[in-house]
Amino acid sequence: PEFLKLYKSSGSRDLASITFLGQPSVFFISLFFYPPEKGDFLALDLGGTNFRVLLVKVSDNGKQKVEMENQIYAIPEELMRGSGSELFDHIAECLANFLEKLGIKNQKLPLGFTFSFPCQQTKLDESILVSWTKGFKSHGVEGRDVVSLLRKAIKKRGDFDIDIVAVINDTVGTMMTCGYDDHHCEIGLIVGTGTNACYMEEMRHLELVEGDEGRMCVNMEWGAFGDDGTLDDLRTDFDREIDAGSLNPGKQLKNKHFVFEMIVSGFEHIHDLIKSCLSSSRFARRLHKMVRRLVPDCDVRFLRSEDGSGKGAAMVTAVAYRLATQHAERQRILDALRLSREQLLEVKRRMGEEINRGLAKESHDQATVKMLPTYVRSTPDGTEHGDFLALDLGGTNFRVLLVRVRGGKRRSVEMHNKIYAIPQEAMQGTGEELFDHIVHCIADFLEYMGMKGASLPLGFTFSFPCHQNKLDQGILLKWTKGFKATGCEGEDVVSLLKDAIHRREEFDLDVVAVVNDTVGTMMTCGYEDPLCEVGLIVGTGTNACYMEEMQNVELVEGDEGRMCVNMEWGAFGDHGELDDFSTEFDRAVDDCATNPGKQRYEKMISGMYLGEIVRNVLLEFTAKGLLFRGKLSERLKTRGIFETKFLSQIESDRLALRQVRSILQHLGLTSSTCDDSILVKEVCSVVARRAAQLCGAGLAAVVDKIRQNRNLSKLKITVGVDGTLYKLHPHFSSIMHETVRDLAPQCEVTFLQSEDGSGKGAALITAVACRIRDAGQR
Ligand code: ADP
Repeated sequence: PEFLKLYKSSGSRDLASITFLGQPSVFFISLFFYPPEKGDFLALDLGGTNFRVLLVKVSDNGKQKVEMENQIYAIPEELMRGSGSELFDHIAECLANFLEKLGIKNQKLPLGFTFSFPCQQTKLDESILVSWTKGFKSHGVEGRDVVSLLRKAIKKRGDFDIDIVAVINDTVGTMMTCGYDDHHCEIGLIVGTGTNACYMEEMRHLELVEGDEGRMCVNMEWGAFGDDGTLDDLRTDFDREIDAGSLNPGKQLKNKHFVFEMIVSGFEHIHDLIKSCLSSSRFARRLHKMVRRLVPDCDVRFLRSEDGSGKGAAMVTAVAYRLATQHAERQRILDALRLSREQLLEVKRRMGEEINRGLAKESHDQATVKMLPTYVRSTPDGTEHGDFLALDLGGTNFRVLLVRVRGGKRRSVEMHNKIYAIPQEAMQGTGEELFDHIVHCIADFLEYMGMKGASLPLGFTFSFPCHQNKLDQGILLKWTKGFKATGCEGEDVVSLLKDAIHRREEFDLDVVAVVNDTVGTMMTCGYEDPLCEVGLIVGTGTNACYMEEMQNVELVEGDEGRMCVNMEWGAFGDHGELDDFSTEFDRAVDDCATNPGKQRYEKMISGMYLGEIVRNVLLEFTAKGLLFRGKLSERLKTRGIFETKFLSQIESDRLALRQVRSILQHLGLTSSTCDDSILVKEVCSVVARRAAQLCGAGLAAVVDKIRQNRNLSKLKITVGVDGTLYKLHPHFSSIMHETVRDLAPQCEVTFLQSEDGSGKGAALITAVACRIRDAGQR
């Protein structure tokens, strides 16, 4: 009952106080021993009854096997209380002797250092001694990193070299040793000369360490529990007597008395009788029984560790070694997807070059960025009004819209729309079938709106690369985004639409404008903000447009004013401009696309491809054994299975890891580990970041071009943006903004999200065109 009371009253406050009083020592490990570690590892064990040096051979012949050789060395009393540097010289000497004896002095082996004293750990191989315990008193060590002290002592000798990989506490070693045999082992407990425990804590609870993901082993240093008086009502006169007579009455661990440790452990002054009782299995039996009684909801299994400090140190070293190798391998693969500032500046420069080549008459045909004139010469001025029809083809859905634009004081835009599916056979059949279907949808819409037979001005948002000679003409250059209908490339889509309307003989329409969705986006935002002179789309595909000086638009006669140019920048890179930045993953995605070799820039940026890039990276990681334990699921082998929306979900919030798991489960990867989730998240983040940066580099070229056009040292401009990837990805927009700011520092760029740029924009362009036409007739 006393213990139950103690357990209950200790609650979280006191548990926390254990950790903090005892200086949490944190530790970076994974508990998952895959693939099996192998190789030879050295271990030093200081802080138990004996000081030992060990050689641990881990082999992997079908089943994991561990062999050990060890040698106990004495630490003379005077060194335990003498100078720290002499203590470490002695340790180095013992190590040298051991290596000499085994004939391995010339090998540089990885070493794990079990140093079982309260330490503040900041890295796996850095551990600052807080205070000596267990009879040690060497001066000049407290407050210093014991790994550097050992390294220094070894260097001073100069007769051998080793690679100190990890420093651990014996509790951690115990947990790791048992964890090697039983993956459920996530707690380590020592009851010997002293007592201490460690366990795997959630990273999000470890406020002293950065990062929220995964777990980390925490060395509790629970021996100090009770030093603030929490256990006073349990202490007996004997306990107080022992405390008073101990080496560290009121001195150790910032004046802590190690009350708890003295009650439960075989600390040196404890009576021999108690000591023998502790070492008997009766202690173990009582401990197990008590734990089970206190936490009936937990199924706790106790596993006796065989030489946790020695073998454990080697295990940690082995895991750390494997993790370091794997980490380096993963980073090497991911580095190919990371772009430096210099590389991004180069992308910006090449984009600038392509812009000029696309604008100029003589180089236009060879340019990848086509810089197509749109014949849109002005953004809205607010006086536009009337009822307009709009068609939107080329996004995710095909839509027909009725848009009512009101000008003047009660400026407003009111829209009604209906979404229609474009069946696969219409997308990939003949052009006539496709346009008959479109006209059928218009007829249905007019009937639905009760406007059968009405003849309204129509704007046609047709989001494919078109060559325009006038506003109401669009010669399709090539289908993109999965469209394939025959007999359309090279034809004017307005004629194709008009022909289909005539075939139906039901109504007539006044097709005023063919509009690209980027232009629609710019116009929609331009209706709100007169500074908006750039349109950008990052959705299924990516593209941009902006107001260029007429004198630079060489394909169109006249030097006065400006014209919106549809860049068709998705094709940037099609002549190899991006080859030095693209990866094997980009090539894999390109090879399997419907248009290999085309739209290379778009394929590194937009929603249709990012998921597929991630999937290809995951395939590579798995093939190399760096992910999913090297096992591929059938589903992950399926093209397109990793949707771009997963990138958004995976990167979204604090619950992300759990979400990653459920997404991976959806992909048939049911046994993914926490580490797998972390890696998948990193892949998503790297791929999305590169996309946002590439997009930002292109946009930086555009805004800088506009600034130079106008001879300004500072340009203030707004970019209207649309597209689900831009709008829904948690980081895409901010990374892109940051990149533009960085690469085009002389431009002050505001980003405005467009609401339904293709629908509203088409109507606004039609409205602007009608306004200009009406003004011309007057
Ligand atoms: P479109 O560009 O065809 O008009 P959208 O702007 O809606 O259409 O973009 C569709 C693209 O956005 C698809 O390729 C899809 O993969 C991607 N996508 C859909 N949902 C998300 C999301 N939550 N995060 C990122 N991308 C998404």
